[in-house]
Amino acid sequence: MADPARGAPSPDMLELARAAMARAYAPYSRFAVGAVVRGESGALYAGCNVENAAFPLGSCAEASAISALIMAGERRIVEVLVVGKGPALISPCGGCCQRLHEFAADATPVQLCDSKGLRRTMTLGELLPLSFGPGNLASSATEIVG
Ligand SMILES: [Zn+2]
Repeated sequence: MADPARGAPSPDMLELARAAMARAYAPYSRFAVGAVVRGESGALYAGCNVENAAFPLGSCAEASAISALIMAGERRIVEVLVVGKGPALISPCGGCCQRLHEFAADATPVQLCDSKGLRRTMTLGELLPLSFGPGNLASSATEIVG
């Protein structure tokens, strides 16, 4: 169920995520995922999961969406949307929460969707509380240098 106080994703963002999900390469899990990140410019970048017969080499949809954002020259993510099928609520895996944290704030909304639409909105900080991020290293660097 969507949380109206946090706002629903734009229709174009959800449609792009659905299109990305349709292009997923998931012959092993058969669990296709689409992800879209919105950059600071407002542009949308999509990704899908890409599995591999050597399982650990597969990559998540969020990772490819982040790569597209970086390739376009952007560095900040202001909104995230993930879509997948199935009865369980889909959310970015722990690794992807960490990947997103590199470019997004704790308050960044993460829209969790299924084929029918938005099911829940959370913030990145709710999904990955007390995360380790660039700020941790910045203070360490200061301590080493200073
Ligand atoms: Zn992931």
